[in-house]
Amino acid sequence: MSSTTTEATESGHRSDTAVSGSAACRLLPAVPTALLIAGEWRETRARGVTSSLEVENPATSEVLATVVDAAPDDATDAVDAASAAFTSWARTSPRQRGELLRAAFELLTDRTEDFAAIITAEMGKPLAESRAEVRYGAEFLRWYSEEAVRATGTARTAPDGSSFHVTMRQPVGPSLLITPWNFPLAMATRKIAPALAAGCTVVLKPAEETPLTALLFCALLTEVGLPPGVVNVLTTSRPGQVVSRILDDPRIRKLSFTGSTQVGRVLLEASAKGILRTSMELGGNAPFLVFHDADLAAAVDGAVIAKLRNGGQSCVAANRFIVDRRIMGEFSAALTEKMHAQVVGPGCDPATTLGPMINVRQRDRAAALVDSAISDGAEPLLFDPVEPGSAFLSPVVLSDVKPGSSIAGQEIFAPVAAIYPFDSEEEAFRLASDTDAGLVGFAYSTDAARLSRAATSLECGMVGLNRGLVSDASAPFGGVKHSGLGREGSEAGLQEYLETKYVSYPI
Ligand code: NAD
Repeated sequence: MSSTTTEATESGHRSDTAVSGSAACRLLPAVPTALLIAGEWRETRARGVTSSLEVENPATSEVLATVVDAAPDDATDAVDAASAAFTSWARTSPRQRGELLRAAFELLTDRTEDFAAIITAEMGKPLAESRAEVRYGAEFLRWYSEEAVRATGTARTAPDGSSFHVTMRQPVGPSLLITPWNFPLAMATRKIAPALAAGCTVVLKPAEETPLTALLFCALLTEVGLPPGVVNVLTTSRPGQVVSRILDDPRIRKLSFTGSTQVGRVLLEASAKGILRTSMELGGNAPFLVFHDADLAAAVDGAVIAKLRNGGQSCVAANRFIVDRRIMGEFSAALTEKMHAQVVGPGCDPATTLGPMINVRQRDRAAALVDSAISDGAEPLLFDPVEPGSAFLSPVVLSDVKPGSSIAGQEIFAPVAAIYPFDSEEEAFRLASDTDAGLVGFAYSTDAARLSRAATSLECGMVGLNRGLVSDASAPFGGVKHSGLGREGSEAGLQEYLETKYVSYPI
């Protein structure tokens, strides 16, 4: 079935999103497909450029919509807009900024079903997970609506008594925000909310696979009264060219990036030229430790959450299950049973618990990693044949994976559980940290002292003890080593968009 929504929108932007899907899938809301620059929804300024940006439904490979494909000149326009709006936005009261964010939280929550439908259509996850993403994404708006009024400074008498120091916090300036496809709403709100709370204006560049959610969210921001130019959106099939133009512009003062370590490294280098403030939320390779004294049922439940949330396409997905050899058989069998019970299908079908991967290329990449782990000696406990040309991958469980296999050294980003045995606590911690990544680690045990040792030993920015999920708007999310720089969420997330100014005067 293919249909076109015709709903009018208050802002008058294009709303002719073509929608495809099975009869079980609801009609999608109208979504803008243009660039948002200085409060206007507009076409690209590029002349003679024939490229276009088609958004596909990963469950069917059908084209959902064609959005405007920004060129570098549009990027300059977006920076003009963010720069022109900055001075007045930075001078709005923290309370005013907080109340706008609160209004956005309320409206987003009211429109959960619309946003969930769009997320599922363009990204593939089951509707229940898309609703959970809307709740999670909305929490950043609520949290930073409250934090906007808490950007405090300090006051101190100099140690020699001659002067008084006051520190104040000021917005860093127009900021470039780049987001990935796996959480198309939450990764945007996790950046936009603290940036706006701090008084920064932004240019948002969403992932080319999932621009519709970001466009719909930015339309919502204009609807609640955000002034023109405070948030600008560039959708593009040429991220390298468009982002280079922005990073070369001296008016941009900050880059916040969420995505792969590989691209993050390139962007860090590019940011050096303008000495930009940077926040980098990069890839992970999470260890999930199960000790022999763990509550096994709880560990298996936690493993399913840590592995299958977002179909395994999450930076905090458990990538390596490191399990005491004495319980590996029991743990593997129980995990296999739960993985086998997943209902694989299109995300818009209410019965589905595991949707497609983002595209066929990523699915094929994951299947190749599984094949190579098996060639290296891993035992496949669950591995269904892979259908050519489809983005679907049924859950896979591999036991006794060899630590030297390529699947151990990179993010699997798929519903594939790889299980490694260990014989001592020291070996477990050593295996866990044997990676360049350091985003999150999980540990299951009933021994409090062992859990405490795990919390201190794991080389990562976040640790989940006896739980398989750590994401929370009120907690500092971020990694160490190659997993990134800076934190998002909590009060730390606001600091990423603030500079400290120190003022001194004689007493
Ligand atoms: P990606 O790095 O390919 O793309 C991320 C963003 O960067 C997209 O918007 C893309 O258009 C843009 N981009 C790509 N090449 C670029 C270039 N040369 N110049 C400028 N921008 C460019 O990552 P992805 O495949 O979209 O997302 C998956 C990755 O994101 C995984 O590695 C995952 O771990 C990571 N991730 C990390 C977090 C975190 O908080 N640490 C959260 C979600 C995803």
